[in-house]
Amino acid sequence: MKKKGIVFAAVAVVILAAVIVCDFLFNKTASDTFLAMNTTVSVELTGAKSSDALTKIKEEILRLDEKLLSRTNENSEIYAINNGKAKISDELVTLLTVLKEIENESGGAFCIGVAQLTDLWGIGTENARVPDEAEIEAAIENCFDWTIDYGSKTVHLPEGVKLDLGAVGKGIACDYAYGIVSDRNCKESVVAVGGSVLLDGRGQGPNVSFKVGIRDPLGEANEYCAVLETAPGCVSTSGNYERFFEDESGKRYHHIFDPSTGYPADSGLLSVTVEAQYGTISDALSTACFVLGIEKSLPLLEKYNADAVFITEDKQIITTYGEFQNETITVTNDSYTLGEVK
Ligand code: ADP
Ligand code: MG
Repeated sequence: MKKKGIVFAAVAVVILAAVIVCDFLFNKTASDTFLAMNTTVSVELTGAKSSDALTKIKEEILRLDEKLLSRTNENSEIYAINNGKAKISDELVTLLTVLKEIENESGGAFCIGVAQLTDLWGIGTENARVPDEAEIEAAIENCFDWTIDYGSKTVHLPEGVKLDLGAVGKGIACDYAYGIVSDRNCKESVVAVGGSVLLDGRGQGPNVSFKVGIRDPLGEANEYCAVLETAPGCVSTSGNYERFFEDESGKRYHHIFDPSTGYPADSGLLSVTVEAQYGTISDALSTACFVLGIEKSLPLLEKYNADAVFITEDKQIITTYGEFQNETITVTNDSYTLGEVK
């Protein structure tokens, strides 16, 4: 009898120890903040392989920036395309194919052929200025007409057109991070690359949700006007406060251009936050929807199964959310009012 008791106690101790070790392993956390893609990246992971995932995410985001997407780094493929070398990797062929599709679906509101326009306005640099009409016309003339030749794996740029992936690089980085945390089965992952955030909670059950602060577009960088509670996915925000300059009369010119006019988009919005399954989509669509305005954004959002929170110039927060139980938006600044898309 006594012997049996000892065996039971020993088994119980072993099970308890195993539970403690498992819990310790599976709840291991890893976090870091670093600079890449001209912004701050912050990574918070939970899972047995979280520190390996963190190392890999850092490596991949730096590689993406330096070797693939940067317009200014001489070792990147985009730099090479813009400077006459057209042959590209399969990886970039795949990415550019997705971006061309979004350009088409957005009716050209999203267009990565805007590099010349971005340079012309120089917003965010010391040389920011309002260009003259003729310069703007020339910069937008052929900006959609870049093409991929799948046979030779080359990109053709029409005269005067260069590529700028500034609107989508951070979202692409979120998708690479997703691949890494999936492979390592991280339980919970939050990876914020500037205005794009990956929220993954695969180990937390089907009803897991995340809270994301939406910046007050009229406030300081750390001020929020609403909190979005959302299911796992990617969330990106584009706003007119991110980079801008003011002319002598105080008129503000910001960095998201309407490629059909060549001027900063003027669709009555201060910011757009988009949630989608993939960061490439949420980031590209936040830029596109900012250009399109609320009404014209709706079919595009539907096409990509995405949701949006629009903040209008008259301080309304208009959302396409509302149909899902675990997705809510709470206004935290009384000077804004909440409305749903009609
Ligand atoms: P942020 O870079 O502040 O996160 P966005 O994701 O909206 O904001 O991207 C804006 C950047 O994208 C601009 O700085 C410019 O490089 C580029 N861009 C501007 N207008 C467009 C557009 N209509 N389509 C695609 N890229 C654009
Ligand atoms: Mg964007």
